[in-house]
Amino acid sequence: MSKRKLDDEENSLEDAEGKDKTKDVVNGVNSVVICDTPPCNRNPKHFSNYSEYELHFISSHNYICNECRKRFPSELFLELHIDENHNPFTKIEQDKGGKIFKCFNYSPTGCTKKCSTPKKRRLHMIDKHGYPKEFRFDIVNRGL
Ligand SMILES: [Zn+2]
Ligand SMILES: [Zn+2]
Ligand SMILES: [Zn+2]
Repeated sequence: MSKRKLDDEENSLEDAEGKDKTKDVVNGVNSVVICDTPPCNRNPKHFSNYSEYELHFISSHNYICNECRKRFPSELFLELHIDENHNPFTKIEQDKGGKIFKCFNYSPTGCTKKCSTPKKRRLHMIDKHGYPKEFRFDIVNRGL
């Protein structure tokens, strides 16, 4: 508010910028935090404060691997992690040249794509599902 006094001349500029930012206001909630952790990234959730976001994160993105205690954002990521890191059968399958790297959006009723290498999966996710290039695709191995 005290800003107004100082930048009176820049008011017009500021207003233009301010309008752009109102895009983040969803359902009248002044969103401060946006959850773009998968699977929320497909339909980002907005939160008005960090404690709300934290509650959401703990209840929705807290899947822990029993083997290595790493944390994953969704049940599917945990499943893929266990499959690709701790499952001896998957390892055998991979040694035989099988496609073991499932699509991050894998579901029996949706995309059932499996790739032979993580690199090919990365391309699939970017190409077919619009994942950003800078997405941490190694989240499956390293966790959050
Ligand atoms: Zn979320
Ligand atoms: Zn693990
Ligand atoms: Zn897919």
